[in-house]
Amino acid sequence: MADIAEQEPQQDRTSQDLARQIRDHANITLSTSHVSGVNDSATARKNIVDTAEGRRAQRSNYGNAPGGAVDLDVDMLTGMLGLAGTYRFRVSEIAGGSHSANSRHYAGVAFDVDQINGRQVNSNNPDYQTFMQIGRTLGATEVLGPGNVGHDTHVHLAWPRRDLSEKDDSKPTCEGGQPIT
Ligand SMILES: [Zn+2]
Repeated sequence: MADIAEQEPQQDRTSQDLARQIRDHANITLSTSHVSGVNDSATARKNIVDTAEGRRAQRSNYGNAPGGAVDLDVDMLTGMLGLAGTYRFRVSEIAGGSHSANSRHYAGVAFDVDQINGRQVNSNNPDYQTFMQIGRTLGATEVLGPGNVGHDTHVHLAWPRRDLSEKDDSKPTCEGGQPIT
């Protein structure tokens, strides 16, 4: 068995293959808890491990989160791997966590990043703006971060929904991005 090269182009890009690469990637840390403190099977780490092992990613079941499970999107996972070619970062949420009601997180096409190159994401982080720009070039169409309401502590990257009949929240917010009420 050959080692998986970190950025080798993949002929067969399935969610499972991509999730295996993400799980094992030296530049990607996957959070094992939620900002809320709720303990469940929908953390970023669990979402990727489940997908790597051929299972669907779990959604959380508290706050606005709808519960159930979802397939993680190939384009979103490819974008995450692409960013890891340039940055070290921590993924704080993928399909889990409680976000605004119609968040793309629940559709398996979004992820949040709360640390880039070992530093917390905030308006003083030297890398977040180029990180967001590269996310756009990798196909993200909903890109929010410090300076956007509710995104002072993380970058939110979301790819287009596969089910275009689903509506976006006009002011998407993510877990940890707003005071808990
Ligand atoms: Zn988000």
